[in-house]
Formats: sequence, structure tokens, C-alpha cells
Amino acid sequence: MTDTPAIAPNTWRPARFMVIAAHPDDADFGPAGTAARWIGEGSEGWLVCCTSGDAGADDWRTDPLELAATREAEQRAAAAVVGYAGVTFLHQPDGALANDLALREGLVREIRAFRPDAVLCVDPETLFYSDGGVNHVDHRTAGLAAVDAVYPAARNGLSFPWLARDGLLPHKVARLYLFWSNRPTVAVDTSATVGRKLEALLAHASQIRDRESFEERIRTWAREEGEAIGVAAAEAFRVIVIEEDAAAPAPEGGSATAAAG
Ligand SMILES: [Zn+2]
Repeated sequence: MTDTPAIAPNTWRPARFMVIAAHPDDADFGPAGTAARWIGEGSEGWLVCCTSGDAGADDWRTDPLELAATREAEQRAAAAVVGYAGVTFLHQPDGALANDLALREGLVREIRAFRPDAVLCVDPETLFYSDGGVNHVDHRTAGLAAVDAVYPAARNGLSFPWLARDGLLPHKVARLYLFWSNRPTVAVDTSATVGRKLEALLAHASQIRDRESFEERIRTWAREEGEAIGVAAAEAFRVIVIEEDAAAPAPEGGSATAAAG
């Protein structure tokens, strides 16, 4: 732990951001408190789920198509709690997500259509969590696919050139906010929105077995990440700056009007 750099309070807020996740519920376990806070302060957010979570059941006899429909409905309900402007499902196979050109094109399409200043995704370098456990292969794959779609494909008009011809022009994402990172650099104070994160998570009813221990786990996690910056609750990110602030998105805590432009 001695070589871990200090975590700073986050001070930057994108006017538009996109969360790219592998499964329904990842975005809610991940940056939902941050997303709810930023949206409350005037940002626009969009959620992309690469799969519909069709392998997320303990019983092997489960119908994967029925499960996918259930999980999409749960994710849409959770997204409404957080306040996203919309959700896209790319319908890739759960447990078999591949960072291939088809997925990259799908993500570039989403990025060029919504034109976010920041993309939030799993840190693809997290193979094992520092506090134990393996990071699901789909999580790592979705994280890497998001990074590869942001840079360089989304900004390069010669990547998937038919997209530009269809009006989906190149777009530069200024920053990556990587969640579930073993090397976080900033933490977003989510003291005011951790309750909304919990509410969003509870919308994923098919995935929750013991509600009480589940709630305790989420609150403990938020409290521990808050300790790093001296607040009651937080979400930590490893921030990668790709473009310095040409468009000058709003400072965190700033008014909605400051985000315009
Ligand atoms: Zn997941």
C-alpha cells in the first residue's frame, strides 16, 4: 500500500458522460452514485450495457432469453432512478464478451451519437481485486473495449468510415474514469447520492439473495472509499486525461448553466 498515490477529491464534472458496462447491474455497483450526483448537477448521462446478463442465474435450467428480458427491465428501472437520459443494450453474449471489431464498432456508434466528454468503464487492468477476488472476464473485456473505442477509433474518421458517411462524425472523449481500479487517483463524494445508488441496485431483484447483507456491503464499501478523502461516502476512479479541458466542462458542484457550451 505504501506505493499507492494519494487519492484526491474529484473536482471536474463532464457536461455529458457515458457509462459502458458489461452486464446489467455493473453500472449500479460501479459509478451510480457519481452518475446520480453529476446528473443532479446538470450533466447528461447515457448507459451502454454490452450484454443483457443472460448468464446471471444459479439454476442452469434458466431460460437465457427470459432472463435477459428480466435483466433489461431491471436495468431500465435502475437507470431511471439514477437519471440517465437513456440505455442501450448491445446484446452481446454474457460470459463470452469479445473485444472484437463488431463490439468496437457498436461502441463507437454509441460514443459518436451521444458525444460524451467522459467515458466511465471498468479499469481493464484489474485482473484481481486488491481486496481479493477475480474481476469477471466480461468486465475486463468491456473496459478494454471501451478504452479502444474511445481511443483512437471514435476520434478517427477513417475508423469504420461508413459511420461518418451516416452522419456519425468523429468525436474526442476528453477523459476516462475507470472504476473498480486498484490504482484510483480521485474519489467523487457520493454522500448525498449513496441512497440513490442503493435504490438503483435494489431494482436488480433477480440478482439479490440477501437484501440486508447486500445493503450493508454497499454502504460499507462507500464508507471505506469515502475515508480516503474524508467524506461519509465516495466512489473511487482512476482518471486518464486524454484531452486537456478545451471545452471546459463545469467544475463539480457548479451550476447546470456552467456546464452549457
Ligand atoms: Zn458484472
